[in-house]
Amino acid sequence: MVIVHMSLEPKNDQEIQDPKSRVRALQSLLVEKGLLSHEAIDAAISAYEHDIGPQNGAKIVARAWVDADFKERLLTDPVSAIGEFNFEMGSQHVQVVENTDKVHNVVVCTLCSCYPWSVLGLPPTWYKSPEYRARTVLEPRSVLQEFGLDLDGDIEVKVHDSSADIRYMVLPQRPPGTESLTESELAAIVTRDSMIGVSQIVVT
Ligand code: FE
Repeated sequence: MVIVHMSLEPKNDQEIQDPKSRVRALQSLLVEKGLLSHEAIDAAISAYEHDIGPQNGAKIVARAWVDADFKERLLTDPVSAIGEFNFEMGSQHVQVVENTDKVHNVVVCTLCSCYPWSVLGLPPTWYKSPEYRARTVLEPRSVLQEFGLDLDGDIEVKVHDSSADIRYMVLPQRPPGTESLTESELAAIVTRDSMIGVSQIVVT
């Protein structure tokens, strides 16, 4: 492990407030010290722009909707099921939880912002907010209502607290009226928020 000791004293209060400035300063210093290259930074940004994102999770969901055996594998052995796709998983262990007529799942990281980036890309800003992290555990139905999701009282809401060890992804319900769609057409209607559990997929 490389431990970097360097002075990162901000020049003024504004720089403390502004995360972008802090990131830029840190990036410059790491490049200057030879610990990080511009090429590596560009490659990481490109990966998140093109290869890693909620489109990967959407492909998994669509496959589960059309292939019952895959869905079974996905719920019982997600590492090997997701391994059937060529996604860069790193060391992440993703667990998939299924929404049904009786159960609605929603994902949060109460401690920080653990997120299944390998299948969903970068987390939205609200996912990292103290309000979402605190309130989703305490009053999930209210939080979901604010996202526009008004669940019937007889639907059980399960909150999953992601951690560095297990990161959760929701398998949303396949909406009615999609019987004739192909797997790739189905993948196109799967939203990031439905895989976090703050929305359902509605076909208009
Ligand atoms: Fe976290």
